Amino acid sequence: MSLIDLRSDTVTQPTPAMRDIMAKAKVGDDVYGEDPTVLKLQHYLADELGFEAGLFVPSGTMSNLLGLMGHCERGDEYLVGQLAHTYKYEGGGAAVLGSIQPQPVEMEADGSLDLDRVASYIKPRDFHFARTRLLALENTMHGKVLPLSYLADARRFTHEHELALHLDGARLYNAVVKLGVPPKDITRHFDSVSVCLSKGLGAPVGSVLCGSQGLIDKAIRWRKVVGGGMRQAGVLAAAGLYALQHNVTRLAEDHANAARLAEGLEKLGYTVEPVQTNMVYLAAGDKAPKLASFLRERGIVVSPAARLRLVTHLDVSSANIETVLEAFAAYRKA
Ligand SMILES: *Cc1c(COP(=O)(O)O)cnc(C)c1O
Repeated sequence: MSLIDLRSDTVTQPTPAMRDIMAKAKVGDDVYGEDPTVLKLQHYLADELGFEAGLFVPSGTMSNLLGLMGHCERGDEYLVGQLAHTYKYEGGGAAVLGSIQPQPVEMEADGSLDLDRVASYIKPRDFHFARTRLLALENTMHGKVLPLSYLADARRFTHEHELALHLDGARLYNAVVKLGVPPKDITRHFDSVSVCLSKGLGAPVGSVLCGSQGLIDKAIRWRKVVGGGMRQAGVLAAAGLYALQHNVTRLAEDHANAARLAEGLEKLGYTVEPVQTNMVYLAAGDKAPKLASFLRERGIVVSPAARLRLVTHLDVSSANIETVLEAFAAYRKA
């Protein structure tokens, strides 16, 4: 029996069609800038998102790090949400490797940062303080889509305060599909955007950082420094290109499956947060480990947490959702 893995949208298997494209990819040495497939991917995404340049990197963590290091120097500061990936889940890389001080900001329920609150954290230009340089947002944030009007406000705010604006767009395309807008309607507000190819888009590896040519030139240097310069990386970039060309519109299926799952769980009496894209958050409390092992015996994999996250993706079908709901119903009765 194949498992239904709801831990994350990172667990997808590359499809036969994707593997086929990877096998046939034209490659070269990308550290010399000579891999045609990597160059194609970088151009494709930079063009689609409205930036001068893009850079293919092994992970979203590296992509965000290079973005932060592109905007900030040693002793600079970036403003970031308390629960944001770049702050909480990237090993403190900005501080550890970039000597950039994070200033975490309490988050609003919709995944945004209150801009008045952000303003209160901006340091005066005085030698006592780190130099506040950058605001980093995340979209989607825990599956929530930041409203376009908020992005416009954030852009105006950062211009007023002479800050750069970075987007951790690991799941940018989930936001794009949910809003039904061209990607540029989101990305035009930012100075740099990081996109993961290995989340809902279903590629096995890789992220792309997009920004100005100057920012990407700096990022190329830091990518080398942190060991992210890859050689015949076109094999991987081919999967990313395939994902961007074939797996974007289908994200709507993941969103529909997540909505169906949330609705079914609510009917069963579970407490779930409102769903916007491909993530369902369920209040599991201290019963989470017991629930997780009950589900695991029925071929369903979740990460036990009090705020339990269920993520839909390419390898979760609508039939799987029914199976999952049956298991949750059985747990309720057990
Ligand atoms: C997964 C993720 C990243 C980092 O990507 P990795 O490839 O796992 O390093 C960054 N931001 C968000 C919001 C993510 O979900």
